[in-house]
Amino acid sequence: MSEQTPSASRSSGPPPQMRLPRLEVDAQTQRLQDVTFLSSPHCDARPVTMEIDTIVIHAIALPPETFGGSYIDDLFLGQLDCDAHPDFKGLRDVRVSAHLCIRRDGRITQYVPFDQRAWHAGESWFDGRTRVNDFSIGVELEGSDTQPFEEIQYRRLVEAGAALMRAYPAIELSRVIGHADIAPARKTDPGPHFDWPRFLTLLEHAR
Ligand SMILES: [Zn+2]
Repeated sequence: MSEQTPSASRSSGPPPQMRLPRLEVDAQTQRLQDVTFLSSPHCDARPVTMEIDTIVIHAIALPPETFGGSYIDDLFLGQLDCDAHPDFKGLRDVRVSAHLCIRRDGRITQYVPFDQRAWHAGESWFDGRTRVNDFSIGVELEGSDTQPFEEIQYRRLVEAGAALMRAYPAIELSRVIGHADIAPARKTDPGPHFDWPRFLTLLEHAR
């Protein structure tokens, strides 16, 4: 057989127009390029000379087990209508944020520039230090303890994690952890459905 192989079939991977732009941190703005930025008031300065060396992964759904809508944005922006759902009553005076949130459809929103301290970890400790917010970047996945995460969420989390590791070289793979790892008495997220071995393998190859 001496069939000619069409050149198109020899190329590997999707055609260029189907690839999303590679995520990168803009060093000037301290934001991920090409993602939506909504400025949260729930942040402050990191301690002087404190290096960013950790990523904390969380899961959040508002109301619990419910995906979609704008309640997560509202909470992080300090604009949540706490009368909108009975489960929001306890959130009335809660002032929290994260640097990033990755929705079920893979959309990424950033709320706090990376050089600022977002308020995601609460009382916490890791590797001999307390106040993990001081030295970490907080990434929320829209999800819960009872439902698997979406494939596109892993893909976007890997892309974002790799961009962060390029921008902040002190972040090592062993310092990419879950909220439950740093506040085990209070927190379970990202929960039992988060596939850590697979995620860390993908991240190691992407960075
Ligand atoms: Zn959390």
